[in-house]
Amino acid sequence: MSAKIIDGKALSIQVKQNLKAEVEKLKEQGVKPCLAVILAGADPASQVYVKNKIRSAEETGIISLSFYFDNDVTEEEIITTIKKLNDDKTVHGILVQLPLPKGLDETRVLKEISDEKDVDGFSAYSVGQLLLGREGFVSCTPLGVLELIKSTGETISGKDAVIIGRSNIVGKPLLALLLRENATVTICHSKTQNLAEKASRADILIAAIGKANFVGADMVKEGAIVIDVGINRVDGKLVGDVDFEAVKEKAKLITPVPGGVGPMTIAMLLNNTVISAKNSLK
Ligand code: NAD
Repeated sequence: MSAKIIDGKALSIQVKQNLKAEVEKLKEQGVKPCLAVILAGADPASQVYVKNKIRSAEETGIISLSFYFDNDVTEEEIITTIKKLNDDKTVHGILVQLPLPKGLDETRVLKEISDEKDVDGFSAYSVGQLLLGREGFVSCTPLGVLELIKSTGETISGKDAVIIGRSNIVGKPLLALLLRENATVTICHSKTQNLAEKASRADILIAAIGKANFVGADMVKEGAIVIDVGINRVDGKLVGDVDFEAVKEKAKLITPVPGGVGPMTIAMLLNNTVISAKNSLK
């Protein structure tokens, strides 16, 4: 039987509609939610991501400010901008689009974003809060993945979840999020042995690798929920890390690429910005 598609685009539209109403309410209370985006260098993929984030923010009524730097920007220049934005009470979220140009220390730069405005959830503080189960911003892609799974109505508690990929921005925060939902979580990575065997035990399988069609049907348990975080360009087409055509015949629920995790990542960024704007009222 063919899997049901988890429609990330439709879910993201619903989330954005709800946010739009919340933004209106905030404006009535004198708060105009505002997201500042910093892009350094001319990475084409980053330019597309930033453009999409700004467009979605504006569609939702969130004000966006953009700061563009050349490839030869210094850490100090970016940090000076971040500090100004930290001090600006009309700015609620600060996002530094990664990757930064070669030679720049991303950890040092991200550390400068104030904890209350770290809507990307990438700073050591935000990640630490998540691991400790405390309040703080959770990075947008993992949060989007969780929302996609929850939208299916399937139970997460007690399920075996396998994440392939251990990056700081996807795999590791997802581990913490799914643990918080009481799943039993395994992380696989490039040094994992017998990966197919481990993945095929998963009730919930999440691929965040960056290798086109890496996850074949042999790695998937019959009836699993499969979430594809990967974005790869093959012959000018976007494809995920999951061999969609093969895996959909085995999974119960599956996200497509495009139209799965990607739109939800942006929706969660806007959601975090609105939370930060609400917090400013406290
Ligand atoms: P990354 O390169 O930082 O990490 C990739 C991970 O995959 C690593 O932990 C590595 O151990 C693992 N890996 C690599 N080769 C492997 C192999 N042969 N077997 C098992 N594991 C292997 O990547 P990332 O930033 O986490 O992104 C992963 C993918 O998700 C990329 O395609 C990226 O474009 C995509 N992505 C999508 C969104 C979105 O909004 N949809 C957001 C972030 C990342």
